[in-house]
Amino acid sequence: MTRFSDRVERISISGIREVFEAAGDDAINLGLGQPDFPAPEHARRAAVDAIEAGDTDGYTSNKGTLELRTAIADRHAADQGVDVDPDDVIATAGGSEALHLAMEAHVEPGQEVIIPDPGFVAYDALAKLAGGEPVPVPLREDLTVDPAAVEAAITDDTAAFVVNSPGNPTGTVSPESDVREFARIAREHDVLCVSDEVYAPFVFDGDHRSPLEFERENVVAIDACSKRYSMTGWRLGWVTGATDRIERMLRVHQYVQACASAPAQYAAEAALAGPQGVVDEMRGAYERRRDLVLDGLAEAGLDCPTPQGAFYAMPRVPEGFVDECIERGVIVVPGEAFGEHGAGHARISYAAGEAELEAAMETVAEAAAAVR
Ligand code: PMP
Repeated sequence: MTRFSDRVERISISGIREVFEAAGDDAINLGLGQPDFPAPEHARRAAVDAIEAGDTDGYTSNKGTLELRTAIADRHAADQGVDVDPDDVIATAGGSEALHLAMEAHVEPGQEVIIPDPGFVAYDALAKLAGGEPVPVPLREDLTVDPAAVEAAITDDTAAFVVNSPGNPTGTVSPESDVREFARIAREHDVLCVSDEVYAPFVFDGDHRSPLEFERENVVAIDACSKRYSMTGWRLGWVTGATDRIERMLRVHQYVQACASAPAQYAAEAALAGPQGVVDEMRGAYERRRDLVLDGLAEAGLDCPTPQGAFYAMPRVPEGFVDECIERGVIVVPGEAFGEHGAGHARISYAAGEAELEAAMETVAEAAAAVR
């Protein structure tokens, strides 16, 4: 008798944690995908009020409260000009669960899931958990997803392709022309486009564009309060898409989660429906830090495609650079943690204060000089 499923034996705990553990206590951590801002005060208050009123003691509807789903739909309308029916939304335990639902509901055992390489670590793992075969597609030189490469990777066995703009670990943003291509590819090849938009509010020049704007039937969009409102610990995300897709994802959600945490739903509703100034402030701070990091990398002689969003930079680095940084007390993540084609790069997260970043960039320059 087998003790563990093949599916679970094919995945392992993310390598990123190991990097943190190798560093000393006083290290500057530029390895985290964790914003360093507090959650909005009005979001916290809404949760506390709901708890005190006893509104959070029971299950909500499986999809989440109608008020939350309406706030989510309104945000899609305000930010993207996309008309979303609140019934076509499921509130989930973070963007992570939303990605999981998308894979479980759409991927047949043995089917292929095209993922960006380097890309967010969950895509590979969740595709495998659903019994699928991840098909990593290398990024362009500028670290954006190449629609032509995605289209070339499509076979009769393709169930879905994942796009993620602004991207983790790259910080790069797909231009509108590429986003239109993703929509066209999904439509013409009749494959699902999973659009991971958790960094959508953090685009520095221009606006975030979603494939949802150009194709509805074959796109599901994943989003969350996690990065948008600096609420990673609240575990509140969502997925939106065509009615029949939502109905299939709800079947999975109903059994693995029942409903998203009720206090988190109240907090998320307040965050989404309330003033968005907090998001603008974070975007401004990330942009200043992006510039600081890019200056630091240029001074260190490291070449880095300009990140136009999120809070990551992914410079090309010489061999030994990551270990040298960690030894000198600055944690960065080796690019290969995000896929084979991440090799020769490092991910620097700038979800850290400016003073810390300035100190870290000096160390980065020393580390680069030491291994050159
Ligand atoms: N997508 C991307 C690209 C991410 O970087 C993350 C979190 N690091 C997630 C999804 C999952 O976010 P959540 O914390 O909401 O589950």
